[in-house]
Amino acid sequence: MRRKRAIETLAAQAGVGADKAYGAVSVPIYMTAIYRYRAFGKNLGFDYSRSENPTRQAAERALADLEGGTRAVAFASGMAAVSAVMTLFSAGDRILCSDDLYGGTYRLFEKILRPYGLAFDYVDMGDPAVVARKIGKKTKAVFIETPTNPLMKIADVRGVARVARERGVLSIVDNTFMSPVLQRPLALGADIVVHSATKFLGGHNDLIGGAAIVADPELGEKMHFAQKAVGAVLSPFDAWLLLRGIKTLAVRVDRAQRNAEVVAAFLAAHPAVRKVFYPGLPGHRRRELHMSQASGPGAVISFELAREPSVPRFLSALSTVLLAESLGGVETLVTHPATMTHADIPAAEQAAVGLTPALVRLSIGIENADDLVADLAQALRKTRRRA
Ligand code: PLP
Repeated sequence: MRRKRAIETLAAQAGVGADKAYGAVSVPIYMTAIYRYRAFGKNLGFDYSRSENPTRQAAERALADLEGGTRAVAFASGMAAVSAVMTLFSAGDRILCSDDLYGGTYRLFEKILRPYGLAFDYVDMGDPAVVARKIGKKTKAVFIETPTNPLMKIADVRGVARVARERGVLSIVDNTFMSPVLQRPLALGADIVVHSATKFLGGHNDLIGGAAIVADPELGEKMHFAQKAVGAVLSPFDAWLLLRGIKTLAVRVDRAQRNAEVVAAFLAAHPAVRKVFYPGLPGHRRRELHMSQASGPGAVISFELAREPSVPRFLSALSTVLLAESLGGVETLVTHPATMTHADIPAAEQAAVGLTPALVRLSIGIENADDLVADLAQALRKTRRRA
């Protein structure tokens, strides 16, 4: 039996072996919409690139291997992946969600899918007993983010997936923040993993993509059907960029996480910072739970400035850290969730989960940690002066 290969090896060799024609190590970009039939009813397994494309298929194989699933389906964005997963449900069904979701996911659920008859309930996923009480007769799935975006709240993936299974409902985990290098929800009992491949998987802020990965082959068939029927597929070129990004995933995540630990410690000790949200810091709520289901704290840090009015001045003063709306890439980025990534969540709901206008979110990249700390330090100094 072939030895099970470690995630670093799977990542570095993503796509290797996919090209059957010439043995190309870098998977060719099959920039084709259609495939010629050799004779009536006879083709080489491909007919139309919305259904299957060799480059996308290679990326999907790599994603399935990384997450320990049997099948992955790749989409034009993370939101397209979440949308396709939601086609598994029908009007009248309820989905129980983490109470601090990425703003775009919340917007899809509340503004697009609620009018179609799906209903969404929100709960802190840290306590499986509370989740069990919230699962009603109409609940068909639980949708988990952990750590959440942007407050880094920790869900109990094992416990919630177990409760979901006992009650006959699907468990879906958005694993964007951790990547399979740090956390593999299928191994913890989840049914479906979704990703914004735009983030750590792609890793270079040069593509928009998404994926859904499953362990159960029957569910895999349903997801593949949804991918083809809805049609928001990942392009061959983006699939190639994704494969190229995946090759360095393990080293990028490792380096970004080491930088993040340095930056989080710096922020936690800084007088201009009120509070830091990072599972790598002692005292982070449910840190032990996180470390029991993930192999590291990751590279996303949120923190509150002590003086809320100085947020614009701080964000504008940064120079090595780029003010831009994403995470998981090689460059360190900063965003203001209340007005940028989470602007579609009503202010009252933001306040209810603890998302304040003083909060900023950092996605730490692979630069030199001292350069990042120096840039943050000079921008924080400016927040202490009155405008
Ligand atoms: N899930 C999470 C946790 C995200 O942060 C994002 C985007 O920021 C998405 C999903 C959506 O992904 P995309 O922007 O690729 O559609």
